[in-house]
Amino acid sequence: MHPMVKPALRRGWRDLNTVQFGLAPAHAMVLGPMDTATGSFLALLDGTRGLPLLRDEGRRMGLPDGHVDGLVDRLARSGLLDDATGGGPAADDLRGKPAVLDRLRPDAATLSLVACAPGDAMQLLAARRSLRVQVRGAGRVGAVLASLLSGAGVGEVDVRDVGRVEPWDVTPGGLPAESIGERRDMAARRAARHAAPDRPPRRRRGPQAPADPAEDRPVNRLREEPGHSLVILAPRDGVDVHAPKPGAAEPLIASGTPHLYAGVVEGTGIVGPLVLPGETGCAGCLDQGRADRDETWPRLVTQWRCGRPRQVEACDLALATTVAGLAAGHALAFLDGQLPSSAGARWEVSLPGFDWHARPVWPHPECPCSAAEKGAVGKGNGEHTAKDGEPHETMAGHQRSTRLSRKVHAARPAGTWRAHV
Ligand SMILES: [Zn+2]
Repeated sequence: MHPMVKPALRRGWRDLNTVQFGLAPAHAMVLGPMDTATGSFLALLDGTRGLPLLRDEGRRMGLPDGHVDGLVDRLARSGLLDDATGGGPAADDLRGKPAVLDRLRPDAATLSLVACAPGDAMQLLAARRSLRVQVRGAGRVGAVLASLLSGAGVGEVDVRDVGRVEPWDVTPGGLPAESIGERRDMAARRAARHAAPDRPPRRRRGPQAPADPAEDRPVNRLREEPGHSLVILAPRDGVDVHAPKPGAAEPLIASGTPHLYAGVVEGTGIVGPLVLPGETGCAGCLDQGRADRDETWPRLVTQWRCGRPRQVEACDLALATTVAGLAAGHALAFLDGQLPSSAGARWEVSLPGFDWHARPVWPHPECPCSAAEKGAVGKGNGEHTAKDGEPHETMAGHQRSTRLSRKVHAARPAGTWRAHV
């Protein structure tokens, strides 16, 4: 192990014996008491030295025996220490590609803020390379989203859509002007590949993938193609964004594939829900919940779907980019093993105020996804009985994250605490 105090956190001394790591309250930490010699020793924890050399340096600086190991252990338990050589074979492989790693350094530094143990950040970053994500929809949101995931190190980003690139599909970071007239899916896949820091990994085809005679049976046609860590539904049609079709996600529910909704409808951007099949509310739950609250809902949806398709829908460029960015963040958080606040909730933002708020998507007892039976993650503790649309429902996400962060607090060892900055 080559211990390294996480370089992503800036250091500042609050007084002679108390050091603060980090500026922003979300990840800042105060450590103390710490004597001056130990404080000077921190500068040596930069990932260039192994433990034996650090012990020698400690002795030279007059630190008592065992002090260096104690300090390293304390920093590691506080989540402040990384290991410049850790993360396992996949991380070593990534370190062997310095040009690729250089592209991802800010992302690696950010991962070190949420990954606790030394070496975890590089392990997570390297793990992204083996992930497969599918984005369905290559409009202003989907194409940018696919490029973001690819640029953040997700190894395989597949994009599905129909038709050809129209002039109004072109976006910075998404489909380029040169692709107008090309097939949308091909152009978006190429844009995602261009954004990638590395060549895509070689696709390994399992022997069971093609030539399965059972695939011809109707029931199996509904089966989802296996192996996607996440599917993102980013429809270009505003009706599908506002009222996602439950049927479209049935194969995803049946195969247990996590999926995330994102898109723009009129002047509103939507991210969520992230559906963990059988655990959090899905598109079917959302639809049935709306029908319960508003008996005209099914009638309206039918009219919206039957209406003459508009050639060009409203889709503000900045709004679409914001939605793509936030959805990519939620997707990456999930892929990195966290539970983002879109699980069981829809984040919505509207022009011109641009204030994000979350609406819960409760598991519905009559939805075949059966999330309601299993004590869903997105389900509250019985206190939330307000109807959809009332402002205080937006607290559901906050309460969940508060509960999670309380757990994190409880796990922190004595002698460390969150900085109040
Ligand atoms: Zn459901």
